[in-house]
Amino acid sequence: MSEQPEHPGQQQPATVQQLSRQPQQMAISASTQELAELIDLHLGQLRPKEPAWRVSDSPISGRGIFATRDIAKGEELFREHTILVGPTAHRSSKLRTCTLCYRLVPGQTDAEALCPAGCGLPVCEECGKSPRHKSECELFLKWRPKQTQRIDPRSLRILSVVRCFFLDEQQRRLLYAMQANADRYYMKEVERAAACFEDFPREQQMLDFFYRTICAFNTNAFESRSCVEGHEVLIRALFPLAGLLNHQCTPNATHHFEDGETIIVCATERIPCGAEITVSYAKMLWSTLARKIFLGMTKGFMCQCPRCQDPTENGTYLSALFCREQGCRGLVIPVQTRTLQPDWRCLTCENVFPHAKMARYQDFALNTINNRINSCSVPDMIHFINDLCPRFCPPSNYVLIEAKLNVIWRMTRFDTDQYTPEEVAHKDRYREDILAIIHKLGAGECTLKKLITEEIQ
Ligand SMILES: [Zn+2]
Ligand SMILES: [Zn+2]
Ligand SMILES: [Zn+2]
Ligand SMILES: [Zn+2]
Repeated sequence: MSEQPEHPGQQQPATVQQLSRQPQQMAISASTQELAELIDLHLGQLRPKEPAWRVSDSPISGRGIFATRDIAKGEELFREHTILVGPTAHRSSKLRTCTLCYRLVPGQTDAEALCPAGCGLPVCEECGKSPRHKSECELFLKWRPKQTQRIDPRSLRILSVVRCFFLDEQQRRLLYAMQANADRYYMKEVERAAACFEDFPREQQMLDFFYRTICAFNTNAFESRSCVEGHEVLIRALFPLAGLLNHQCTPNATHHFEDGETIIVCATERIPCGAEITVSYAKMLWSTLARKIFLGMTKGFMCQCPRCQDPTENGTYLSALFCREQGCRGLVIPVQTRTLQPDWRCLTCENVFPHAKMARYQDFALNTINNRINSCSVPDMIHFINDLCPRFCPPSNYVLIEAKLNVIWRMTRFDTDQYTPEEVAHKDRYREDILAIIHKLGAGECTLKKLITEEIQ
């Protein structure tokens, strides 16, 4: 699962489109009991003396984590150190980041950030001398990187996968005990990396190990966003225990990172003994269809949680659009819950509209609002939200909520003192609107609530 940190405005929902085919699950080499034992060994010192949970088969999907006693809201459930980790190396990220300590490597050019031995990895002076880099350096040198003056994101991205090479026997068994889904693209990642070296390994056994690791990443990885000495780093990391947390759209737990390599999972709600502990892989405030499409495309499953089965979404009406019937301004919501192409019905005139028509309308609202988010100043955004949006988009619709989140985000993170008292009052009202939705959804002390109440930065 990739982490969905509730960083408003940093990820935009997909428009309605077809789902890719279901990914295939690779064979798992361990029983649930064996997996639980391997996880205990992996946790080592971090394993709580008396855990409030256990690993077991899940009615939601595969294996899951279950409460073995009543758990209080806010309680820390476990902390876990990563088994495999590396830079995400997205194009937008700062590539001149040390591959071990994630500090920015000083210097004006890529060449200054790269290891002087020519392995092609950016590394700081201190980490360059560490045994950990020495072994990675030897391996990369053996494969003969083509690019030694510029940082290549493709070879940087494969580093988290290649690190499987240095796992011990027990960690390898744990890796093979994790769920790994083969999507259409997993071989591509190796091919792209192979193109960066003269002598990338070709032995089938080695390639299979890489493929397996990539699929484990695609299925379980968390993308962690941490701040290292004032610069933001994005890394992807595998956490075998946290990776077992199944998804619910209104979950009872959340996670955060202590540093990029340690994850902490806490209860957001009271969890009764026996209940499954869940987190959300999608954004909390997206509409049901937006979440379903996102989960289908990125995770290959169709969520059937209680929230997904309630067309009103606990009375939040996050999906609602205005009725298309002349003279009626009623709210229209999707009526079926198990399909990506539901009929929509007006709550006032009861007219039914085909999905295609409403999807076009929703995409129009989404694109209009996203364009504004990307191009408008905060005062213009406030004017747009208050005066223009109500003409075409009900106040409960999730894209309008996203726009409000974006305003809160910008006003509290950047140039905080330049706003007028009126603008601050609008922001505070948006915050109340969103807290009311979080409350209706029963999301408890979720990360988003902490973010907008500025408990965490
Ligand atoms: Zn370093
Ligand atoms: Zn090196
Ligand atoms: Zn759901
Ligand atoms: Zn109507």
